[in-house]
Amino acid sequence: MKIICIGRNYIDHAKELNNPVPSEPVFFLKPDTALLRNNAPFFYPAFSKDVHYEVELVIKISKVGRSIGEKFASRYYSEVGLGIDFTARDLQQRCKERGLPWEMAKAFDFSAPLSSAFLPIDNIESVSSIPFSLLKNGEVVQQGNSSEMIFSVDRIISYVSQFFTLKIGDLIYTGTPAGVGPVQINDRLQGYIGDTLMFDFEVK
Ligand code: MG
Repeated sequence: MKIICIGRNYIDHAKELNNPVPSEPVFFLKPDTALLRNNAPFFYPAFSKDVHYEVELVIKISKVGRSIGEKFASRYYSEVGLGIDFTARDLQQRCKERGLPWEMAKAFDFSAPLSSAFLPIDNIESVSSIPFSLLKNGEVVQQGNSSEMIFSVDRIISYVSQFFTLKIGDLIYTGTPAGVGPVQINDRLQGYIGDTLMFDFEVK
């Protein structure tokens, strides 16, 4: 399986990092070794001094497809989870300055914590109005709603599937709202979709 991550999908977040608002989805991949599940602790990596959290809604692909038309995209998923796209911001900045790929800053081991549970999309009003939030040490640091996405889930699936065949179990991290920031050892991160606790783990 593969993990596809969308960058700059919320205007306020693109602005906070001084990035232009894209006219087409920006995406990158993480390998399956990036996953961190079951509320296991995240061990702060030795190669960075500035790891940031980015809370993101995660769509799980339920059907194989390629070059999927936007109006058919909703047939290819039925569940949403919540994850974090951990980013070594110091390494990412260096990569950006040199015009190099981002993988070392984005795709490292355990850089993709993921909720154990996924919620059926039918139980949430609709995929285009899902509220979610991240608490750090009990305080809300990020709040978002899928209604604020620049590119909808269906648009993302249509776009990405032009380049990559989507397979069952593939995950799409759909981008983060404003409020990203650093984590430190002993921080506790709790993620919610609506009022449902999706993950709760510590940085060690
Ligand atoms: Mg992200």
